[in-house]
Formats: sequence, structure tokens, C-alpha cells
Amino acid sequence: MTRRRGRPAVLWLAAAAGAGFLAGMAAMSASSRLITVRDPPVVEPRSEARAQVVVPAPVPPGPPVIAADPIEELRKRRLQLPVEGLKREDLQDTFSEMRGGDRRHEALDILAPRDTPVLAVDDGTIAKLFLSKPGGITIYQFDPTSSYAYYYAHLSRYADGLKEQAAVARGQVIGYVGTTGNAPPETPHLHFAIFQLTDPKRWWQGTALDPYPLLR
Ligand SMILES: [Zn+2]
Repeated sequence: MTRRRGRPAVLWLAAAAGAGFLAGMAAMSASSRLITVRDPPVVEPRSEARAQVVVPAPVPPGPPVIAADPIEELRKRRLQLPVEGLKREDLQDTFSEMRGGDRRHEALDILAPRDTPVLAVDDGTIAKLFLSKPGGITIYQFDPTSSYAYYYAHLSRYADGLKEQAAVARGQVIGYVGTTGNAPPETPHLHFAIFQLTDPKRWWQGTALDPYPLLR
């Protein structure tokens, strides 16, 4: 039953496709007069075009590919708390606080005594050691896949011998808590941010992710 029905349906499809193809050709030749000669339309052989319409594309096996969730991906890494000696309960979520006008903070401020060691939250490489007006002495670290950047700011200084492009390990001391940049002199803290990189060559650019749930 199904088989018998299938055949006329295929023929009908072929006829419809053929008609559609002819209509398409007519439209194409009409519009091609308006297109500059620099960019001529590519006309394929008729039989080939019809075959492409009638034969259904193979269905890819398995479930559809779901876009990776960066928060889930990073959560699985169990990131190191970036300030030595602190407990996860000590953290406060300051990611969404407004800082001057309409600018969101998009980072965590982690209070700690001056010169407390700052630890790499993940394995990776030192992408940039940067002196910034608001951030002071800062580090941009990439994760091992160069998909994410970890940003550490207001440091009092870098760890001895720290160099750009150097490999670092999770938990390694990379700097010390301070108040450089625009941090209040009486409130030493680490300004820590995570962002999903747009392009690994643009170490300063990306989409900010809230580190709070990733460090808890
Ligand atoms: Zn901050």
C-alpha cells in the first residue's frame, strides 16, 4: 500500500520540481539581465539540477548538535579559587553591580590582605601582562583551549619571573593582591573576571561570564 502510493508521489514531486526549476530558470534569466557582467550566474545542467531536487538529502545520524554551554563547560573544570586562603563561602557576587553610570561591573571583587598570593584558576598560558589605568597591574590568562580569558587586576606585583606566553598550572602563584589602578588604597582586593574570547588574537575582547557560580 505504502509502496504503491510512494511512486506517484515521487513522480508528482519530480513534475513539481521540474516546473519549479523551469520557473526558476525563467526568473534567473530575467534577473541576470540586471546583474553586472562581472558576476554571471552559474547555470547547471538541467538533469543534474532536477536530480538534486528529487533526491532527498540524507538525514544525519544521531541527535542534533547542541551549542556548548560555556558555564557548564567551565563548571566541570572546578576552577581554583584565585586568592590563597579564602573559602568559597567568603565570595560575594558583585558581577551585576553598576559601577559609574550604566556600566556593569562584570567581575568579582575578592577582598584580601595586601600581598596575598593570587593563584591561577585553571591551566593555560599568560596571554598578556598589561598595565591599565583602571585595572593597574593586570594579567590576562587563557585557558588551554584559548576559548576563555581569566583576568586578574589591581595586583601589587606579578609573581617573580612571570612572562607572557608562559604556561601556567592551576593553583600556581601568578601575582599578589594590591590596589593598583582605581582600587581604593584602603581596600586591597582582586578584581577577577572571566570572558569567552571572540578571537584569541584579541586578548582584551569577549563576552563576560559571571565567575561567582563557577567558584562556588
Ligand atoms: Zn572590580
